[in-house]
Amino acid sequence: MKITIADHAGFCKGVDRSVRIAMRAAEMEQGPVFTLGPLIHNPRVVNTLQAHGLRMATGPDFDFPAHATVVLPSHGTPRQVERALEERGLKIVQAACPRVLAVHERLRKALAQGRRVYLAGVPGHTETVAAASLDPDRVTVLSSLRDARQTAVQDAPALLAAQTTFSPEVFREMDRELSSRIWDLDVYDSLCGHTLRAQRAAADLAANCSIMIVIGGAGSANTRRLREACRSACARVRRVESASALRRTMFRDHDHVGITAGASTPREHIREVRDWLCARFEIG
Ligand code: SF4
Repeated sequence: MKITIADHAGFCKGVDRSVRIAMRAAEMEQGPVFTLGPLIHNPRVVNTLQAHGLRMATGPDFDFPAHATVVLPSHGTPRQVERALEERGLKIVQAACPRVLAVHERLRKALAQGRRVYLAGVPGHTETVAAASLDPDRVTVLSSLRDARQTAVQDAPALLAAQTTFSPEVFREMDRELSSRIWDLDVYDSLCGHTLRAQRAAADLAANCSIMIVIGGAGSANTRRLREACRSACARVRRVESASALRRTMFRDHDHVGITAGASTPREHIREVRDWLCARFEIG
């Protein structure tokens, strides 16, 4: 059996930075440190953070003890939630990815210029919810080309942007669709370069493998997109959160195993999967 790990598999810079910020807060702060919901979309990493003393608060109404510090998650936080935490006098540590915050900044600027915002994204995803919270009346979330076609647009100045992990193909189609109906449409390509590079590398590798293993949390949008990218090129694709979900039978008759991992998956989790295979199959 041959094993190949895709380029750009695993932690992106933004997630790596969020985890380092949270760990530092746990070490440095005098009082208890909480993350607001999961810091990143990877339950195993969240458990590791908890083992380092970080606790998880469910929301801004959480019963925080005195002198608590709250670390904000990597995908951004709705504005009203951040305000509620500030009003409670809690110490806040911003751990959102700079790219996500740059998208908020661009949306804020467009809204201040009087533009409506069309945001290509997954409804209900933390990042989309946070971005839409900047002005819920003037930010419309579009999840598909069909949505873009059906949405009643006003022919007034607008901005089209996207959740950082959104599909580039669908974003281009939305751009074409809305540009044909809005004369002054500013288009901000807010898609994350890491995500795109990882998807491309995964699809290229998948084309040469008989099975692809995608490692990442079920709630991770970019892991889902990686799985889709692999499925476009390989008939057998399995998403797992850890090596413990693997079974020997999955690899029966497969001579080339490809591995990729979502941006919230640390390198150790990739190594565990590779080591699991090396311990059970003859690797050529
Ligand atoms: S995938 Fe991109 S936008 Fe998302 S956290 Fe990582 S670097 Fe930031």
